[in-house]
Amino acid sequence: MAFQKPPGTQDFLPGAVEKWQFVERVARDICRRFNFREIRTPMFEMTELYKRGVGETTDIVEKEMYTFTDRGDRSLTLRPEGTAGAVRAYVENKLYGEPDLTKLYYIGPMFRYERQQAGRYRQFHQFGVEALGAVDPALDAEVIALGYAFYAEVGLKDVRVEINSVGTPAVRAVFREKLLGFLEPMRDTLCKDCQARMDRNPLRVLDCKTDQHRFAEAPSILDSLDEECRTHFESLKQHLTGMNIPFTVNPRLVRGLDYYTHTAFEYKAEGIGAIDTVGGGGRYNGLVADIGGPDQPGVGLGLGLERTVMLLESQGAELENLHQVEVYLVGLGEAAERETTRLLQGLRMRGIAAERDYQGRKMKAQMKSADRLRVRFTAILGDDELQRGEIALKNMATGEQTFVALDALADAIRGS
Ligand code: ATP
Ligand code: MG
Repeated sequence: MAFQKPPGTQDFLPGAVEKWQFVERVARDICRRFNFREIRTPMFEMTELYKRGVGETTDIVEKEMYTFTDRGDRSLTLRPEGTAGAVRAYVENKLYGEPDLTKLYYIGPMFRYERQQAGRYRQFHQFGVEALGAVDPALDAEVIALGYAFYAEVGLKDVRVEINSVGTPAVRAVFREKLLGFLEPMRDTLCKDCQARMDRNPLRVLDCKTDQHRFAEAPSILDSLDEECRTHFESLKQHLTGMNIPFTVNPRLVRGLDYYTHTAFEYKAEGIGAIDTVGGGGRYNGLVADIGGPDQPGVGLGLGLERTVMLLESQGAELENLHQVEVYLVGLGEAAERETTRLLQGLRMRGIAAERDYQGRKMKAQMKSADRLRVRFTAILGDDELQRGEIALKNMATGEQTFVALDALADAIRGS
């Protein structure tokens, strides 16, 4: 029996993978401009890190982790998100000791044991950033702007930014009671998950995919904010406005992870079934200390790349020809074919993407290969041309054919 990939995973084959490379290229270039530096952390961490760093009452820790015991009897978990690992590395490597802010980004696979549906996988990919070391709301705005620029530059249309303040733990303790006052009368009619969340982490009820529509009249956390939280939130809004980032305030926006303080935000777009969130993030002033580091604040985001690529496809974005072979070399006759090897190497070393036939096929079959590759040029070398030191160069768009000197082939392709 042939093997199949595990449920919830994907193979990205040539033809599709170029879209991923493109999206990743945009992410890296944006990080360069915003001065975020890449960090690569392990694909698995000690399980305890996620229990502490993500939160015991989150969906991730309660039911989505890939946890296993290794041969040394350690409990390890495939990373379900990127922040805990990045912050662990920040603390372990004492990056907080540097005079400047620490601005990190990562791109890579995450693992969650989830029910499969459109836009939800068990191995998926995130582009994330973390900025550690400052409480300035201008930094929250910068992170939101970075994500917004990412979506704009990959070519996604109609991405909305929603923001909220989830306050501080003290604010949430007050709000929690008000929220429970609202929820208690409807407890029996809420889904099982919500009922459990009411006891463990009532704010998360607002995040429920089933019952969300019933909470329009729920108290707003914005009414519970203290002076410090209000000031932070107002300042964030001013920065976003100044940066020309359109946003709406959604007082019912809470994030799946427990560690957020002050700012929470999401990017939303329609087009993947029931799912409308493509990415999100927030400020986490308690997290670094929670996992045993110094009391350093942070703010970050995590954007799902599967959802980004799916939306690009559903919006019919132009992502053609991301893999462009420029020239197909055809050698006719023994001497010419030998020369092809040398020419091909020369072109490639000059930075030109070039291909040839290795299956001894007739000219016609080779021309079909050239068509399939959608090359810009075909270069045809027969023994006659070889003797004259020339090669026929055919422009596939115009059909025009010229003869160029063998040494001038790369220049002719470059110059056109
Ligand atoms: P959701 O509410 O959709 O489960 P979440 O709150 O669990 O999302 P985060 O942990 O904030 O999501 O992750 C940030 C982004 O990562 C999401 O907006 C989404 O684009 C992506 N993401 C999260 N889980 C998955 C998954 N199982 N498959 C694909 N993408 C995912
Ligand atoms: Mg989730």
